[in-house]
Amino acid sequence: MKRIIAILLAMGMVLITLTGCTKDPERLPKEGVYYEIFVRAFADSDGDGIGDFRGIIDKLDYLNDGDPETTDDLGVTGIWLMPIMPAPSYHKYDTTDYYNVDDEYGSLDDFKDLLKECHKRGISVVIDLVINHTSIQHPWFVDALAGDPTYRDYYNFTTEAEATGEIDLNATVWGHNVWNKVGDDYYYAIFYDQQPDLNFENEAVRQEMLDVASFWLDLGVDGFRLDAAKHLYGDYEYAEDFNLTEKNVEWWEIFRAHVLSENENAVLVAEVWASSEEVQKYVSVFDVMFNFDVAEDLIQMLVAGNNESDLANELHYFYKALENTSDIYVDAPFLSNHDQNRIINSLSLDKEANKQAAVIYLTFPGVPFVYYGEELGMKGTKPDQYIRQPFLWGEADGYETTWVDKRYNKTTPTVDEQLADETSMLLHYRELIQLRYQYEALLSGDFEAGRTDNNQLLAYKRNTEDQSVLVVHNVSYQDTIYATDSLGSDSVSLIYSYNGAELVNGELSLPANSSAIVIVD
Ligand code: CA
Repeated sequence: MKRIIAILLAMGMVLITLTGCTKDPERLPKEGVYYEIFVRAFADSDGDGIGDFRGIIDKLDYLNDGDPETTDDLGVTGIWLMPIMPAPSYHKYDTTDYYNVDDEYGSLDDFKDLLKECHKRGISVVIDLVINHTSIQHPWFVDALAGDPTYRDYYNFTTEAEATGEIDLNATVWGHNVWNKVGDDYYYAIFYDQQPDLNFENEAVRQEMLDVASFWLDLGVDGFRLDAAKHLYGDYEYAEDFNLTEKNVEWWEIFRAHVLSENENAVLVAEVWASSEEVQKYVSVFDVMFNFDVAEDLIQMLVAGNNESDLANELHYFYKALENTSDIYVDAPFLSNHDQNRIINSLSLDKEANKQAAVIYLTFPGVPFVYYGEELGMKGTKPDQYIRQPFLWGEADGYETTWVDKRYNKTTPTVDEQLADETSMLLHYRELIQLRYQYEALLSGDFEAGRTDNNQLLAYKRNTEDQSVLVVHNVSYQDTIYATDSLGSDSVSLIYSYNGAELVNGELSLPANSSAIVIVD
């Protein structure tokens, strides 16, 4: 294979010839590239200003047209839908019914059609599953408040007289009280008082959540994005002096076994918003977790303009630790999500830095997650609705939502404008995602930290048995060079260049904020 690639490279025709694995419809749900969608903001099919399932269906060709031969789509092989179940809030992270979809987004039949259309195109669908808490309006909680002892035990209620052990009625988490007073009772809610936490010591609650998983798997979802996965057993929530991590992992083991018994290919993507160290405690139960640490360090590196913290080394040790603890885990690199300021804002609105950030994380191992609109360079800072703004189809297109004003994106180029501009963010993302499928080493190769004393540089190799690719980024504001002969290889060929990087006589010439990918023979 290596020889063939070398010959093809010499003939200058490698990109066209290696597209066989692009957007492979047979790809498993834990492979490829994912795209996070806030349904309310994405595409509106019926003109009420709110995004919906039919809107996504009508726009699927933008994401992946299902034809491995074409390159005029984004090429994502999975979507993560933020919560779709009925809920009083605009974001729906507080359901009132685990067995339905919110009619703002469409009907259950519309959702089934969405699944069908995605699967036709080789797109896996992962839905947000929020089981740490319900809405305060969930019938279970309403009945609990009305005094029904069965449902009172679905949640964590206590009174001043009953509160014992680890329960501290005055405790605060993230600056707010977690025990909320209602009459003589207190109920626990780690996020806020509208989202009461469920009691996972109650077998009926556990069984309910297994049934919920079955319901959605039966409909055909490919997996779940598990919200707040490390908070099911929360601080000050239970009287017992639990090891909270162990209790969480123990529950997720049961959940995982149940899900896999229904669909052995189902994927569990978890939000464990914590340090790499804590994330590692969960790798036995989740297939995919978001790498919050690396996202933060990547941004810091680009803002500082140097790699003094040695990001490649950090990744090396993280992956090494994973190798020893899990044979299922796949990392999820990302830049930002629906809870964080838009990546371009974190990079001082520097479009070039944003583009380089994309080159970096889209060449990391695992399953990268693109946050909707990131590929357009959409802007936004908190409060949350302004990092979840309408996707920019253009007002004339008819599908653009109006659920919130466009505040930060009034002049951000629309999809059509970006398609007509070869320097656009959108075409940059498309090219990078295609590159990932074209080179098996980028898609599924292992990670090897590159050695360099030059802290302007971030360098690493991605290797499969048949292919080895070197990725080098100059993250600084000054030019520099990288001598590829330090690799001890016979020959290298440039397969991708960002911002003017060149390969000259075995040496990479790297202008400020440039990146190069070379194939090593
Ligand atoms: Ca609509």
